[in-house]
Amino acid sequence: MSKIPLVDLQAAHAEVADDVAVGFKRVLANTAFIGGEEVAGFEREYAEFAGVEHCVGVANGTDALELALRAVGVGRDDEAILPANTFIATAEAVARVGARVVLVDCDPSTYLIDTDAALAAVTPRTKAILPVHLYGQQAPVEVLRSAGVPIVEDAAQSQGASRNGAGFHGSIAATSFYPGKNLGAYGDAGAVVTDDGALATTVRTLSQHGGLRKYEHELIGVNSRLDALQAVVLRAKLTRLERWNEARRAAAARYDELLSTVDVVRPVAADGNVPVWHLYVVRVPADRRDDILAALNADGVGAGIHYPFPVHLTPAFAGLGLGAGSFPHAEKAAGEILSLPIYPQITPQQQERVVEALVSALG
Ligand SMILES: *Cc1c(COP(=O)(O)O)cnc(C)c1O
Repeated sequence: MSKIPLVDLQAAHAEVADDVAVGFKRVLANTAFIGGEEVAGFEREYAEFAGVEHCVGVANGTDALELALRAVGVGRDDEAILPANTFIATAEAVARVGARVVLVDCDPSTYLIDTDAALAAVTPRTKAILPVHLYGQQAPVEVLRSAGVPIVEDAAQSQGASRNGAGFHGSIAATSFYPGKNLGAYGDAGAVVTDDGALATTVRTLSQHGGLRKYEHELIGVNSRLDALQAVVLRAKLTRLERWNEARRAAAARYDELLSTVDVVRPVAADGNVPVWHLYVVRVPADRRDDILAALNADGVGAGIHYPFPVHLTPAFAGLGLGAGSFPHAEKAAGEILSLPIYPQITPQQQERVVEALVSALG
């Protein structure tokens, strides 16, 4: 039986291989490896795609979050609110700027940040809220705005997603072009987007050693830049991203149909959302989840878990002192979730085989 990966990066590469080869040649010919026309071109094109004024390319999504937080002024002893069920990077970025990680639970059906809990967690020290657009659908950012603090969107999984007709709602958003993301580079890459020119300038300044001109260092920054070769790949893929996201939506609809008679909990899109299905996550009974996952993997189906541990139950954040039971919805979900293979090129036959394997693993 042929294997079905969680994400098929080879299938994506096959579509862009020629464009990438031509672009790499262009960069190698003029040896502009950092910055330059490819990076500037991608930043322009991605800003247009995201419907924002400014895009600053950086080295990865975690840096993008950290620089966005620094730009809106989150620092030592400030508090920043984020959901417990996210990839660790959201919390790391807050910790790295010296701020306190304030976790809240998620909505049990969409897995997006519980907005009531987030608003209730706001204190005079709160300097940012970080909604995570988990699995490719946007969190209800408009509800969080009433907190009156900057909203730093973690948009690593939501390139091209929209909510109530718009793709960007916060003060600033960070995204990741890790290879497996909807828009993936051939290595690490990320970006910060915003409509606020001053914030964009601060991020750009911080990202290149604290200065916009060489050897003029206004701030203590970092080295976090987008490489030109990555920009080539991203430009080639960006021209296909809308079509690819549409193919993901079709694949998600097909799973919905194939799974309608199977005893799993299917993913739910919140009202007003057009998701881009970075992941298609179902729920199965917690006591059987790991066996089901193992059976799928043994059957050549690349299912996964995103993510097995909420932030507060990782050793890294044990210092928060939040034990099991702190965030019941996030914890329950972590025990039951299962991500099925999804990518733009997945075929109906592959999806049927995934569902057959799942049905047989469910027993
Ligand atoms: C991938 C991801 C990140 C981090 O991006 P990197 O480019 O891997 O640093 C942050 N948050 C979420 C939700 C992610 O999925």
